[in-house]
Amino acid sequence: MAFPADSAEEVVELKCAVQCYAWGKIGLSSTVAQLAQHSFSFKLKEDKPYSELWMGTHTNGPSKVLFRKEEVLLSEWIDKNTHVLGDTVKEAFDGNLPYLFKVLSVNKALSIQAHPSKSHAKRLHKERPDVYKDPNHKPEMAIALTAFESLCGFRPFAEIQNYVRTIPELAFVIGEEAVDAIASGSDFEALKITFTSLMGSSPDVVSKHLQNLVDRITKMKSSSHDISPYCGELLLRLNSQFPGDVGCFCIYFLNYITLKPGEALFLGPNLPHAYLAGDCMECMACSDNVVRAGLTPKLKDVDTLCQMLDYGCHTKEETIFPCRPSPSDPYVSIYDPPVPDFAVARIQIPSSCLSYKFQGLNGPSIAIMISGSGTIHKTSTNLKIDLRKGTVVFIPANTCFELKCDGVDCEIYQAYCVL
Ligand SMILES: [Zn+2]
Repeated sequence: MAFPADSAEEVVELKCAVQCYAWGKIGLSSTVAQLAQHSFSFKLKEDKPYSELWMGTHTNGPSKVLFRKEEVLLSEWIDKNTHVLGDTVKEAFDGNLPYLFKVLSVNKALSIQAHPSKSHAKRLHKERPDVYKDPNHKPEMAIALTAFESLCGFRPFAEIQNYVRTIPELAFVIGEEAVDAIASGSDFEALKITFTSLMGSSPDVVSKHLQNLVDRITKMKSSSHDISPYCGELLLRLNSQFPGDVGCFCIYFLNYITLKPGEALFLGPNLPHAYLAGDCMECMACSDNVVRAGLTPKLKDVDTLCQMLDYGCHTKEETIFPCRPSPSDPYVSIYDPPVPDFAVARIQIPSSCLSYKFQGLNGPSIAIMISGSGTIHKTSTNLKIDLRKGTVVFIPANTCFELKCDGVDCEIYQAYCVL
């Protein structure tokens, strides 16, 4: 479809793909479904899982530009109007949108995974293109919309030592040598030996000792004993989702973190993580590169994962990624990870503000209205875009515009790339 020349200078509305993976929250309990309800062709089914909303150009769920009642792929629109990326981003990312922005609604744990560095991703793709289809890195960031549970990074070493000492079922699985290494060592190497031993244990041994532990905790629970020293509730829940899976034991190695709305995690290269439950915004470099090792029906590549992991130990507080207030806008918090591919802004406009100005950025951005409502009046045409809960817009580089708010609190998340 041919667009008038001025359309590329303007904000455009996107129609985005909804993914219905089995781990998603069901029906309207899913934030993804609530947001998508606004979308034109979305018909909600109350018993269906709605896991992800994709905002971007990824071929597995490409967004479309809505313009004068026509639809065209965002990727095609960008191809025809590459200046919407801005000169520096266009050059750095070969004319492609560098990131994929998502909303996730997680009902059931996602796999224990890590993402390779750029150089490692290239090597994996070269050596095993059938498994690692993509040579790009995949840094990602999750920002909680509701209480969001995850496993992320290794726990402080003393906590891991304590679990190995006090949970005999775990000690059995990792074996004597690893128990000794953890008891006497305090370094990276001891943890690597132990975690590799756990993940490489035979599935029979794992499921037998896991069942013993589950039985023991279930009994304790029914006789009203405190099961929190064993992360008992989490263990029982994960085992009910993935019975006998080695990933259940990973809770004793990885930080169990429940983010509050607005708190974030940044998953840089080689950081082990798993999303467990809740709703979040997610932004990532456009890539599929995941190495998995547990809590998944998909291919596990335990050797690669255990070799590549970052075995540094950190507290929960150190693991949560800090946002910072914008120096120029009191309504904006910025989540700016140490990668060039993307950053995210959380914009909270109070009901007292009836006119909010978006400043032009030198790269492309995508924004989604999470709550509230307002209207964007386009300057060079007579069109306007009504922003309601779930409306997604693409904002070309160097585009300033005004959002007229309806006198209610508005919350907007905006992914962008500026170089
Ligand atoms: Zn991930």
